[in-house]
Amino acid sequence: MRGEFLPFAQPLLGNEEIDEVVQCLRSGWLTTGLKVKQFEREFAEFTGARHALAVNSCTAALHLALEAIGVGPGDEVVTTPMTFTATAAVIEHLGARPVFADVDPKTLNIDPAAVARRVNERTKAILPVHFAGQACDMDALMTIGREHGIPVVEDAAHAIPTLYKGRLVGTLSDITCFSFYATKNLTTGEGGMVVTDREDFADRMKLMHLHGMSRDAWKRYTQNGSWSYEILAPGFKYNLTDIAAAIGIHQLRKVHAFHQRRLAIADQYDAGLRDVPGIRVPQVEDRHAHGWHLYVIQVDTERLSIGRDVFIEKLIARNIGVSVHFIPLHVHPYYRERYALQPGDFPHAMAAYERIVSLPIYAKMEDEDVRHVIDAVRDIAKEDRR
Ligand SMILES: *Cc1c(COP(=O)(O)O)cnc(C)c1O
Repeated sequence: MRGEFLPFAQPLLGNEEIDEVVQCLRSGWLTTGLKVKQFEREFAEFTGARHALAVNSCTAALHLALEAIGVGPGDEVVTTPMTFTATAAVIEHLGARPVFADVDPKTLNIDPAAVARRVNERTKAILPVHFAGQACDMDALMTIGREHGIPVVEDAAHAIPTLYKGRLVGTLSDITCFSFYATKNLTTGEGGMVVTDREDFADRMKLMHLHGMSRDAWKRYTQNGSWSYEILAPGFKYNLTDIAAAIGIHQLRKVHAFHQRRLAIADQYDAGLRDVPGIRVPQVEDRHAHGWHLYVIQVDTERLSIGRDVFIEKLIARNIGVSVHFIPLHVHPYYRERYALQPGDFPHAMAAYERIVSLPIYAKMEDEDVRHVIDAVRDIAKEDRR
């Protein structure tokens, strides 16, 4: 058995990130400034989007995106139950209602047919999540959006770099939101980026991300700046620091190398687990297009004598860190009680929830770590076969 606990997720930071942060600290300019501008410019180039705005989380990005679209009290936003609470919480923050549409049992991505059934005259946006890093059926979702005149905002927290029909996620919909949280494919500790081709949305988000002020700090506190500003709206405090951007600039340059490593780990997992009775490996259409933020297996409870929870306990006892993505939102007390939802309302999300286990997958993992995970999963499945 593995001697040392293998964390579920860990960032991979090099001297490039460390040196840039130190340089930032020595410069005396810590908050949003030239490093953020550089990170935004390079991120826009990376995605091909016209506008990129750095923010302090993907949650902030999603909030700004929906606010810019004009989501407000009485409105509805159609989204997936198979996501993190932030996706739906921002809808609540605007006084609107998250309306869940069930997932495709194969990909665990939102099912466009279910979305079409949930759209009505109150719907103000469609908010898909690229689950685990595999792109949603964007053509179908954009068609529904266009037919009803509803913008589509992507929660791309898992989707860097993810391809959809050969195109990088970032220019597929009206607004795309990325996360740079500590466990994500590209990290700045905490952080996010919102990208769009629409100038009106970009302008509104830029205004609202920093107090609704007509000028940012860089324009006020540098020599050529002016002390004067106007408050045009009661904005938020969602700007990214230059310290975080210093990390992000170098993480972005490594994003394809990190992806190569995660893809290789996914291939090793597939080869090692595909033939194990009681374990289902992820169903993926295009392995290279998948961002591989998560590697989610399903424990086939009909073929094993233990359930998912005991399976996880046994992995942790073998020093393997794992997680569950996600506890569907409709079973959490807040959403369940507020909208009188039953577990069976979203049967595909619920059936998946009872079986899913996320295995560690990150660039810092060694081949030996991957072997330990495979051995542990195989062992447990063998021990507890029916
Ligand atoms: C991590 C995550 C978020 C939130 O990202 P933050 O940057 O932590 O705000 C939103 N949606 C999904 C699907 C996530 O996994």
